Amino acid sequence: MVALVPDLENISLDRWDHPMFRQYAICADVLRLDKIHPEISGNKWFKLKYYLEKARETNKQKLVSFGGPYSNHLLALAAAARLNNFSSIGFIRGEEPKRMSHILLAAREYGMDLRFLSREEYNRKKKSAGFNNPGEFEPDTLPIPEGGSGTEGLRGAEEILSVIDPGPYSHICCAVGTGTTLAALINNSRPGQKLIGVSVLKGTRDFEPMNISWIKNKPDLLNVQIVHADHFGGYGKYSKSLLDFMNEVYSESGIPTDFVYTGKLFYSITRMTSIKAFIPGSRILVLHTGGLPGNRSLEAGLLRF
Ligand SMILES: *Cc1c(COP(=O)(O)O)cnc(C)c1O
Repeated sequence: MVALVPDLENISLDRWDHPMFRQYAICADVLRLDKIHPEISGNKWFKLKYYLEKARETNKQKLVSFGGPYSNHLLALAAAARLNNFSSIGFIRGEEPKRMSHILLAAREYGMDLRFLSREEYNRKKKSAGFNNPGEFEPDTLPIPEGGSGTEGLRGAEEILSVIDPGPYSHICCAVGTGTTLAALINNSRPGQKLIGVSVLKGTRDFEPMNISWIKNKPDLLNVQIVHADHFGGYGKYSKSLLDFMNEVYSESGIPTDFVYTGKLFYSITRMTSIKAFIPGSRILVLHTGGLPGNRSLEAGLLRF
């Protein structure tokens, strides 16, 4: 069997040094899931793992999923499918653009068959995948929900915290898209540990990004917070100040971030530090969920890494 690829040995726990952290007597460690693989990065590998296993067990040949033109999930799926001898189809929301995003070009390099659908058609198809609608997909196909969420995605994401001992941390923070990763952290947190998710979507409220049914064992949701103030205008939006901040983080600690997810997460943590959201002595674990290939869609020279 071809190796399942991504190298969990590469994951490291790096200290993120920020002058403000010393001032407020807190410390932050970054779990570098971005180092697993250059394209199957971060949490996407964990979320795909059990879908690959299911496809093998049920003798499926094709992996099918859904996403927008900047979907890290589709690129991760394309690469993971290739490396594991599956073919892959990506349904993309919206018309085929004149200039394809770097993410989609890279997915195509891995052999993904890209199919562009109108919004209505996309939503219809996505829904029928959720219900595993026979007839909508060929029998040798395994449909995977958008963003790699769903039962198998959650199960894989629940393994993220087994890479290290999360015991000593008072807070665990991650970026939130579908909320699968945050739900997985909630399911694995210790009593009293605080969990903070930073939503990168605009217009979401409270626990809205997340499917509450993913949360098991009725944890104390008072310990969970989803921050809605640091999306920088919405999904994929950014400002010069965000990019400046990302450059600063890289200069200070050598940690590269992406402008769609982790840059906003890191920014949010410093903003919350400045309003004393973390009491002195707090130990923060920051999940670096990857996403670095997305930076290729930025104009060259804007980022120092
Ligand atoms: C997809 C993605 C997320 C969001 O994960 P969810 O489980 O969907 O909330 C966070 N960070 C990066 C880098 C991602 O690519």
